[in-house]
Amino acid sequence: MREGKFLEINKKTTNFFLEKGKGVGKKRFTQESGAYENMLSNDEGKVNDRINENKIELTVEQETVVQEVMAAAQEVVDQFIERPVVLQREQIAIVRSGALKEMFSEVGTEKDAEKIAGHTFEHLQKVAVEADKDTPNIELALILFHELMHLGSFYRIRLTQKKEHEALGHYRPERSGLSVLDSNGDAKFFRYLDEALTEKLARLYIETQKNNPLYKKNFSLREDKFSDAAPGTYVGYEEHDGRSVPVLKGAYHNELLATEDLVMRLYRKNNNRFASEEELWNVFLEAKFTGKLLNLARLIEKTEGKDTFRLIGEQSNISQEERDK
Ligand SMILES: [Zn+2]
Repeated sequence: MREGKFLEINKKTTNFFLEKGKGVGKKRFTQESGAYENMLSNDEGKVNDRINENKIELTVEQETVVQEVMAAAQEVVDQFIERPVVLQREQIAIVRSGALKEMFSEVGTEKDAEKIAGHTFEHLQKVAVEADKDTPNIELALILFHELMHLGSFYRIRLTQKKEHEALGHYRPERSGLSVLDSNGDAKFFRYLDEALTEKLARLYIETQKNNPLYKKNFSLREDKFSDAAPGTYVGYEEHDGRSVPVLKGAYHNELLATEDLVMRLYRKNNNRFASEEELWNVFLEAKFTGKLLNLARLIEKTEGKDTFRLIGEQSNISQEERDK
């Protein structure tokens, strides 16, 4: 058993496990975890300041979107985590369009800074989504739901005895959802599999909202322009040669297709064990939300052969775009 605690924000528990590393004394752990919880509860630090500076005033309709999405995301979290994990409104920041893109291009850590429209700062237990008054409700909903699935996922940092890292010091990030992290906090294994699961959940939610007046316009637009659109996608506009052109939007499309293939293959070979494909998806999702990889690893290795779990982990850390190069 790992020693440590799930950190609290404003006395409500999160899915962020701070582990007491080997050789770390009880007293030091109590102090450090207390200080971390204070930082989270009081919204402190440079990154938080930057996010807060860029917050926008939401329209009444946008705030309704946020509240509805939050409630639905909470239901998903409750379905997979036995402990009560509470998603809080304070953990959500809607920032002006461009704010995240600027933040990430400055530090240069995100390769695709120009494409970022939402981000989960796991170590701050906060999500930020870009929007302005013209952002379609459905876009705000889909991106926010996606980020809240990251926020609800298992996250683990280990407090170490010795300083292991220049910037992170005694804190060593280890897991984020299915992703296994390296000492910088970057994903080493399973990144895109985790993203595919995250996007899948967001799209499933969106598809249940067909009759919600908040999104109705966009759904009828989709039916009009893209009658064979994949579930959960929506219509947005992009500039092409000075003209605004409708395009179908949704993130991690190829990763999602690859994951659907994998799940279908596993289901076909195990349909005596699983009543439905959904049950098999749930093995993946349980691993993402609880952090326990063993059931998923066993299932994959038994079906696909020894060492395949690690292999899938390695492969799913490379995006389709990088593969195409
Ligand atoms: Zn994501």
